[in-house]
Amino acid sequence: MSLNAIDVSNIFKSYDSLKAVDGLSFSVTAGSCFGLLGPNGAGKSTIMKILYGKASRDKNKDSAINVLGFDPSTDELSIKYLSGVVPQDNNLDEELNVEQNLLVFSKFYGMAASKAIPRINELLDLLELNEKRRVRIKELSGGMKRRLVIARALLNNPKLLFLDEPTTGLDPQVRHAIWDKLRFLKKQGMTILITTHYMEEAFQICDQLAILDKGKKVIEGNPQNLVNSMIEPYVLEIHSRSAYEKIKEFITGKSIRVDLQEENALCYAQTAQELQTLAAVLQAGECFLRQANLEDLFLRTTGRALNEHQ
Ligand code: ADP
Repeated sequence: MSLNAIDVSNIFKSYDSLKAVDGLSFSVTAGSCFGLLGPNGAGKSTIMKILYGKASRDKNKDSAINVLGFDPSTDELSIKYLSGVVPQDNNLDEELNVEQNLLVFSKFYGMAASKAIPRINELLDLLELNEKRRVRIKELSGGMKRRLVIARALLNNPKLLFLDEPTTGLDPQVRHAIWDKLRFLKKQGMTILITTHYMEEAFQICDQLAILDKGKKVIEGNPQNLVNSMIEPYVLEIHSRSAYEKIKEFITGKSIRVDLQEENALCYAQTAQELQTLAAVLQAGECFLRQANLEDLFLRTTGRALNEHQ
């Protein structure tokens, strides 16, 4: 039995001349959280939909997918039975209340009421929705709807949870609450595949991630290890071209890498000290010294920002 919950090998998906997924391969260890990160249009949702059987992949001989022992192109139902899906859109029944939404879904899974009701109670507790059980969907906040969709995906006690941008548009407090629940589920042994364009989300919960760009994988690894090993640790953000002009002469001959953008400049270095010397030339507000992150790594690899629209 493979230790991987998911194995994806050489997958393509075309929409006319557009390659939404372009030769993608990756594996997800059972019991871990794997993140698909990348800008809008990178192909994250498409590959996720292919994995749970909602989209087909292009036919090519050497492509293969194994999700919990099944190929979604032939065994979609087996995968559905063993996994839970949190799609990008909540698709809740707005006319029903919280509890009724879960009950209707439990029937899709063929759960008897004697099994479904205790499970629903357990999940309403876990996702902190107990007080809202009789409230109609229309009256819930965005964060509550998202937590309800997560509860719905967990009804069948899945081994694998697919989460497509679970916290997009939610405020930071709600986002942290959801991350807490996901960490709890991971501790219970659940495998999680998540798409996100928030690098902090990836840092908070992913053991491994792949950054996608135009359907291809550009980077893969543990988020902290990637940042530690592939990019200088410190960055001085310079907020205007005129401020950059003031420090330019002090950069020559030093081990500082400059990424010059239209308005801003980013100066990368191995030590904070080198950058502090530059910052001292500038006024407060003209620059900001920080540690490097996945965004910097993505920029270095692709020349574009993670949150850029294509
Ligand atoms: P992401 O989830 O990374 O934002 P998607 O997987 O949704 O990206 O989309 C990848 C690319 O495929 C985009 O260019 C998108 O416009 C295109 N795409 C996605 N679904 C369809 C579709 N059903 N028909 C045509 N093009 C699509």
